[in-house]
Amino acid sequence: APVIRFEQARKEYPDGTVAVHGLDLDVAEHELLVLVGPSGCGKSTTLRMANRLVELTAGRVLVEGQDIARTDPVALRRRIGYVIQNVGLFPHRTVGQNIATVPALLGWDRQRTRTRTAELLELVGLDPGVYSARYPYQLSGGERQRVGVARALAADPPVLLMDEPFGAVDPEGRRRLQQEFWRIQRELGTTVMLVTHDIDEAVRLGDRIAVFSQGGHLEQLTDAVNLLAR
Ligand code: ADP
Ligand code: ADP
Repeated sequence: APVIRFEQARKEYPDGTVAVHGLDLDVAEHELLVLVGPSGCGKSTTLRMANRLVELTAGRVLVEGQDIARTDPVALRRRIGYVIQNVGLFPHRTVGQNIATVPALLGWDRQRTRTRTAELLELVGLDPGVYSARYPYQLSGGERQRVGVARALAADPPVLLMDEPFGAVDPEGRRRLQQEFWRIQRELGTTVMLVTHDIDEAVRLGDRIAVFSQGGHLEQLTDAVNLLAR
């Protein structure tokens, strides 16, 4: 069974904009699915349907077989990590505290949280001894993005939604981050939906690529085969 399933999912915003027409789309377990297409074609809306940041106007979305309209959004978001461009780290919390956001909600004890935070910083290539106590303003763009990924993975969510996650990083750093993220995703087996307008990124990262056109139409679904690019 797919981990995420969109069934005739539709979003019409209050002003009448139909961002996504009845979309049918499955995301398989452990798959890294990339949504690609021009700006304004409904990619972010589609992504945000999966964690209920956007409520559907019609149709439904199932996550792990459950209709998410009938799940508690807070509980849902603990199982679904979310990474956006410019990350949205809490500016007055240290890197360690940022990463511990979901563990704190889940009531993890101090030791478990510390161990996990250190593990995650290692995973994204940041020395915990150096970075745990820093504040977001003390980080470069690429470092912030790494922390965003670490924070999203803190409670080991089965699903990760990523919206232009590397968009704010300079081209050289971006290439490296993409490769590292790809390795992390393989290692953890997290099911990922990633939105980008960068076709190069789509080809480099995607197991499959969903090509959107205006109005949230799924134009094409292709298996990504360009493994050499990685
Ligand atoms: P067309 O008018 O040729 O159907 P669309 O852009 O609507 O143009 O559809 C192109 C492709 O997108 C279809 O072949 C189908 O795979 C997919 N598609 C069409 N309608 C939907 C839909 N409601 N939900 C999901 N995918 C769709
Ligand atoms: P993409 O991620 O592909 O750039 P979006 O999903 O952000 O596309 O937007 C799809 C369409 O929905 C666009 O026409 C956009 O202007 C519109 N849209 C997005 N958010 C809102 C909103 N909150 N209210 C009204 N229209 C919106």
